[in-house]
Amino acid sequence: MIPQTFIQELQARADIAEIISSYIPLKRAGRNFRAICPFHGEKTPSFMISPQKQIFHCFGCGEGGGVIQFIMLYEKVNFVEAIEMLAGRLGMEVPRQGGEKERFKTALYDIVEQACVFFQANLNHKANAAVLSYLNKRGINEQMIKQFRLGYAGIGNSLQQYLRERGFSLKLLERAALVVPRGSSFRDIFTDRVIFPIFDIRSRVVGFGARLWKDRVDAPKYINSLENDLYSKRNHLFGLNFSKEHILKQGNAVIVEGYLDMIVPFCAGVKNIAASLGTALTLEQIRLIKRYTSDITLVFDSDKAGQAAALRALDVLLENDLKVKVAKMPSGLDPDSLVRGKGGDYFSRLLDARLDFFDYKIDILSQMYDAGSIEGKGKIASEMFVTIDKLNSEIEKHEYIKKLSRWLSVGEEIVIAEFERNTSNRKYGRKRNKTVSMENVSSRDSAGQLTITEKILIKFMLTNKKAFAIMKRNLKETDFLSSLARKTAAYFFSNYSEEQNLSCPSVLAAITDKEIGRFISQLLIEDVFPLNKEIFKSSMLKLQERRVKELKDKLKIQIKDTESKGDKDKLKILLQEYGKFR
Ligand code: ZN
Repeated sequence: MIPQTFIQELQARADIAEIISSYIPLKRAGRNFRAICPFHGEKTPSFMISPQKQIFHCFGCGEGGGVIQFIMLYEKVNFVEAIEMLAGRLGMEVPRQGGEKERFKTALYDIVEQACVFFQANLNHKANAAVLSYLNKRGINEQMIKQFRLGYAGIGNSLQQYLRERGFSLKLLERAALVVPRGSSFRDIFTDRVIFPIFDIRSRVVGFGARLWKDRVDAPKYINSLENDLYSKRNHLFGLNFSKEHILKQGNAVIVEGYLDMIVPFCAGVKNIAASLGTALTLEQIRLIKRYTSDITLVFDSDKAGQAAALRALDVLLENDLKVKVAKMPSGLDPDSLVRGKGGDYFSRLLDARLDFFDYKIDILSQMYDAGSIEGKGKIASEMFVTIDKLNSEIEKHEYIKKLSRWLSVGEEIVIAEFERNTSNRKYGRKRNKTVSMENVSSRDSAGQLTITEKILIKFMLTNKKAFAIMKRNLKETDFLSSLARKTAAYFFSNYSEEQNLSCPSVLAAITDKEIGRFISQLLIEDVFPLNKEIFKSSMLKLQERRVKELKDKLKIQIKDTESKGDKDKLKILLQEYGKFR
């Protein structure tokens, strides 16, 4: 937890125009600044920054908020990460509540960083020239070694010794997953191996992978870092800290398996690449990559194990609303060996020839089953159904079912019927039953639409301290019909007391809901309607009248209903209620 007071101080010290101008060029436009929006493609600038209000808003794509929201969007980080980045730029230290845990984490970061420095120095040591020349022979050059901070773990317990001399306790070394207990003492986990540091998204070292450099039969080729409090395999994609901007720019991420499968192509020019460090993509990894793109190219070996892994990954990615294609590797090659043998361009062309999930899967299935036989068609169809069913869009589902029916040469109607039978899509292809919510919508006629009255009131609430107090006392969030205004009112009514001034920038900074942030940044930056007492009064009145009318309508229905049932006592009470409105 970061204390609110710190966020306020940070907000007060950071100037939004200055911070944003370090990312994109700004042009002055009267009191405001104008820029080409970094969040959607445009040629004429519709991205506005108000230094007075310390907000930005894009009239093209609707993004908006305060300086922290900008960093969150631009750097693709969460709220806490954005605070940390901003504090770092301003030379401020983020105070933490719950101290002990945070101090421990800081110590862990420190110790793995020190270990990384030690491994790097080892590799450059004359005594280990053989390791270096081994790497060079494998096509790993000086630049790669430097950028990826590759290192070498020596023999014995040299790391342990080095870190102990620098005052780190064995306990901490163990918690950092650098040593394991043996008997009454500890031994280094990594010995006589090439070291690949694993970085988090902010390029801090969190763990290590290690590879043999001499053929040995008594040990595995790779050992991945044991997990520690900074690193868990399921949460990381190797190399993403280097490739995230390229992925963002190119709108596609190439996912490979191993360290060198990422490093070698990256250095040969395929920059939008990251490694899963395992065959099965985890949900956490998928969420991580989704921050940057929703378009994935999977690269898998063409052997049986690779195919099976690719098929599993397809379903998980589609289910999570990602577009996914598969690039097939020539047999016996992985991206590392392929790029070394044939160059980066060859790999790029291979990526360009990637197959749609449908074509990839059906290609594999047609090798497994006889597509000419009835039985084979059935098997292929039912396996394709599983994947098609993962798609979230009904239109896409339908398109792929059509494609499948053409591929199988089976009538569309039949394939649809089979699809329904195989999956939970009972009503597939027929009109969905949509009557459920219609009633509610029609009784609140303008629901979902932002009326000018509601907009005016929210703007008042945000800019005028008195107005907020009056609104909080007299209105309920349900008085707003548009879902956006209602959500915004609910947020402020429940999080702020009547005395608080909502026009202070830290209020905006604390908003983590994207919709609310976008909505109010726009409200604040546009000067379309005049704000004065009369308008405020009449807007309040409108909302209150609307509520009264609704209550009356409801009562009328109840009265009619009670009359017809002949419940005289209840009728009396209801009529009294109704009388109050006259
Ligand atoms: Zn925009």
